[in-house]
Amino acid sequence: MGIQFDADHHKGREYVNMQQATYLQDKKLLPPNINRLSDLAYNLWFSWNHDALELFARIDPVQWKQSGHNPVRLLHEASESQLQQLSEDPDFLQSYQQVIAQFDDYLNGSTWFREKHADRDYVQIAYFSAEFGFHESLPIYSGGLGILAGDHAKSASDLGIPLVGVGLLYKKGYFTQKIDASGSQQSEHFQYDFTKLPIQPVLQDDHQLTISIDMPGRTITLQIWRVHVGRNIIYLLDADHEANQQADKDLTAQLYGGNQDTRIAQEIVLGIGGVKALRAIHYYPNVYHINEGHAAFLTLERLKELLQLGLPFHVAVETIRSATVFTTHTPVPAGHDTFSIQMVEHYLSPMLQELSRYKQDIIALGLDHHTGQFNMTYLAMNTAGMRNGVSKLHGQVSREMFKEFHGHLDANEVPISSITNGVHLDTWTAPQWKELLERFLPGTWKVEQANKHQWQQIEVIPDESIWKVHQHLKDALIRYARHNLMEQRRRNSESEERIEEVRQYLNPKALTIGFARRFATYKRANLIFNDLYRLKKIVNDPERPVQFIFAGKAHPADYPGQELIREIYRVSQMKEFLGKIVILENYDITMARFLVQGVDVWLNNPRRPLEASGTSGQKAAMNGVLNFSVLDGWWEEGYNGTNGWAIGSTGNADWATQEKENTESIYQTLQKEIIPLFYNQGDLPHQWISRMKRSFNHLVPFLTHIGWYRITQS
Ligand SMILES: *Cc1c(COP(=O)(O)O)cnc(C)c1O
Repeated sequence: MGIQFDADHHKGREYVNMQQATYLQDKKLLPPNINRLSDLAYNLWFSWNHDALELFARIDPVQWKQSGHNPVRLLHEASESQLQQLSEDPDFLQSYQQVIAQFDDYLNGSTWFREKHADRDYVQIAYFSAEFGFHESLPIYSGGLGILAGDHAKSASDLGIPLVGVGLLYKKGYFTQKIDASGSQQSEHFQYDFTKLPIQPVLQDDHQLTISIDMPGRTITLQIWRVHVGRNIIYLLDADHEANQQADKDLTAQLYGGNQDTRIAQEIVLGIGGVKALRAIHYYPNVYHINEGHAAFLTLERLKELLQLGLPFHVAVETIRSATVFTTHTPVPAGHDTFSIQMVEHYLSPMLQELSRYKQDIIALGLDHHTGQFNMTYLAMNTAGMRNGVSKLHGQVSREMFKEFHGHLDANEVPISSITNGVHLDTWTAPQWKELLERFLPGTWKVEQANKHQWQQIEVIPDESIWKVHQHLKDALIRYARHNLMEQRRRNSESEERIEEVRQYLNPKALTIGFARRFATYKRANLIFNDLYRLKKIVNDPERPVQFIFAGKAHPADYPGQELIREIYRVSQMKEFLGKIVILENYDITMARFLVQGVDVWLNNPRRPLEASGTSGQKAAMNGVLNFSVLDGWWEEGYNGTNGWAIGSTGNADWATQEKENTESIYQTLQKEIIPLFYNQGDLPHQWISRMKRSFNHLVPFLTHIGWYRITQS
């Protein structure tokens, strides 16, 4: 076996004719004149195209909701007669044809990359990530890291950047969260039926393509699935194959589940298995992106390829470095996986035996001399020529954190740069906003979404139109929240009275503040509760009421995180806060959309500088929702004094001081600035709307397309 570097072979040979996929996986036949619904269902492009989503909803609105907005399941479960009827319904056919035309234009149209970088036709970027958050129908994500990877892939597709993704397909996803009547989180796990997810097996001679990787004493077979994300494909590896013993089948059962052994084995599947999978489909990318240390083993498989070709060790490492990019996502230790050396030697023993001459050199790539542990971040830094954090501040923090790693360089000379996170506009901006923007911005606004100048046009949109859209989205959020709370209570067998009273919860006219993210302790979800007496006065002001909506999951092994949920629940049940502070269960992408589109203010108050970037506030900004946040992560760059509010200062005081200062700052800013501005309404809160406009104007072009421009220019 040799490695082919020639241009013809690097891009993969899985030529997929998308127009041929007219069958669902179990060969259910769709009526011929609507059979391309299957193409749509198997391309996540539908998830960011409102017309496509509407088309699926029209097939069966109830099923569409029940399927968790999963078009593959929807089509599977639709009856023949239902489909037959649709195929004879002129209205449906018209929408169908219009959506298919858009889809084909999207796939075949010109792109920014093709136009600007015609000479870079050879580019193929491989993007490895342990999680991808594309859409609620594909539950292989846990939080911000995955959503970012999903948004990255979508933006790459929009811009025409050739990206191939590699991830894992988790049989049980992450977990479903329930909150019981005592406020405790219950985690539930479902087995997903892969034939009903928007994924397809990669076929070779009519069988699903598999690859194998060596583990100590055995070989594991991995089957390969593909997900279409617009123009690009993400490959997912799945160990649930009949040839594997039960324990190995379970390796890809759960995202961030199991113990250290599960974790290292999963990372071997992702990194080593991922490179092997790409080779099996004839991909030889020229850039590899390690999205967080989890994926860093990919460099060892590539190292092995080069060593087996006879390259000297240091040349092989340099070759790999020249084509590897590493993004570190957090300064929090839980984000940096470490394993004991024995464990690494054990799990990598098949590779280390084959390359026994280099065993010590390979281990040294991840060795932390201080702790004697193997650190995945070290492995990534030693094998990636370009490393970056996810905001300017996080870049600085990472340089400081890893200066010893770099032989005691001065922190500002440490070669770690930063690319500030962003979000995918079409995924997160509500369709009602897009319609409004369509009317007032230049026709090319979406293609030119990163162009600052055109966003100034937002100033000409009448305040009434802005407020109408915002209030509509707020009403939708409140309906959604009440439904979530009623379900919670029904399931917890609460009294009919307790269930019914939810109908009165949350006031559509009250200033509404959202706080939703993973319940990691550094995010301090309970900070606002530091002075409950003061909070009661704020919330219960009869003229100017304020309400809070919380949501988030805590990792099942994170007990302090789960304690935060109990505390919020407890406060939400106090008589003074009932219906004014609520906590929703099972935060996921669907709920995130409702929240970031429907609240007035997005609150974020982490311990600075532990929030490396944060992206939920960016999604809020994409909907004119004003950020109220500690000057950490992206907000330190995004805040300009008039497009939202800052909590505290930019210093790095100790935790206790920050806690005191930030608490005071939150109450003060709420009482002196935010509440008066919101309630300064004649017919409309004109000053508030003007701040919303500034937020759109200033933040959207800065947050969109996720730095792809900056990356590809260099
Ligand atoms: C955006 C998002 C996150 C990440 O939010 P942060 O503010 O970065 O913590 C987590 N979970 C879901 C479901 C999201 O949509």
